[in-house]
Amino acid sequence: MKGIKIIGPKQVDVVDWPDPSLSSKEVKVRIKASALCRSDLSIYYMKPVVGKLPPGAVVPGHEPAGVIEEVGSAVDEFKKGDRVAISCFDGCGKCYYCKIGQPNLCYDMKCLGFDRHGGDAETLITPAATCLKIPDEMSFNLAAVSTDAIGNLYNSMEEIRVRANDRVAIIGVGPMGLSGVLCAKALGAEVIAIDLETSRLESALVLGADHVFISQEAEEGVKKLTNGWGVDGVVECSGATPAISLAFQIVKKLGRISQIGVEGGLAEINIMNQILGKKITYIGSWYFRMWEWDRICDFIIKKIGVENAEKIISHKYPLERDAVREAWQLFDEKKTDKVIFIP
Ligand SMILES: [Zn+2]
Ligand SMILES: [Zn+2]
Repeated sequence: MKGIKIIGPKQVDVVDWPDPSLSSKEVKVRIKASALCRSDLSIYYMKPVVGKLPPGAVVPGHEPAGVIEEVGSAVDEFKKGDRVAISCFDGCGKCYYCKIGQPNLCYDMKCLGFDRHGGDAETLITPAATCLKIPDEMSFNLAAVSTDAIGNLYNSMEEIRVRANDRVAIIGVGPMGLSGVLCAKALGAEVIAIDLETSRLESALVLGADHVFISQEAEEGVKKLTNGWGVDGVVECSGATPAISLAFQIVKKLGRISQIGVEGGLAEINIMNQILGKKITYIGSWYFRMWEWDRICDFIIKKIGVENAEKIISHKYPLERDAVREAWQLFDEKKTDKVIFIP
């Protein structure tokens, strides 16, 4: 099968991978769309954030969607022709975390595109348990970005219990943050987007942000906007140390912060002033629960709107060498929103 391979630091290629065989509990999916994600860049930089395999050991891509072409002998919940998105986490299926729909927390978790072949290829063999049926209203492109991007951000909004009329700040409006703008807006919140780049703030406005602030002016801006109170919720999508500090500055007392970004990875938090003194809830948000998928699709179709949701996709590329190289480069340079490969 043809698929992307990382061949060196910031070097990608499209190569012929040996076709893996199908076991009894797996399905073979013909990939129709596969989205690029910030965490893919960790492989591109040769330092994968997930798993133990060296970069280039497997096909990348953990946000794919496609059509089932073949099912293993023990698979009865899917059939040939079913349209599916693929959850990136495969767990043991038996432990507490798997049973509550969070295989990402399983001790035997294997991540698509990091620990096993991912979706940036013509076909993918994956456990049937990782497949999520796509409603007819949703395209393959939308299904792909509804897993780790919109689905993940939907979960963040649930974690910080966003309600209508809440003020929600999204820090870092790359593709993840933009998904957050869509979700918070559709829940009825007043949305404040914050970023270092004006071009990204412009995208946030297009997707429905009510206010935008360049990072350096955000603390003062939010203070003014909220009469000194601060915002009800913050979704921190950058992971940079100053951005995390900003989240704690602009959240109001009894407010809630969801942490999604991991890029810098280190935070400096004053326990007394910023957590105890304000009685903040600070929660890590990492993917949705498996049983949330149907709710996420419903929310996208009925609340966000499928056309609106597809606006987070700015670039589409075929699975060909030059196209793929351009895609990874532009994505790395933050010149795109969500990027999709269409094999
Ligand atoms: Zn992702
Ligand atoms: Zn498990």
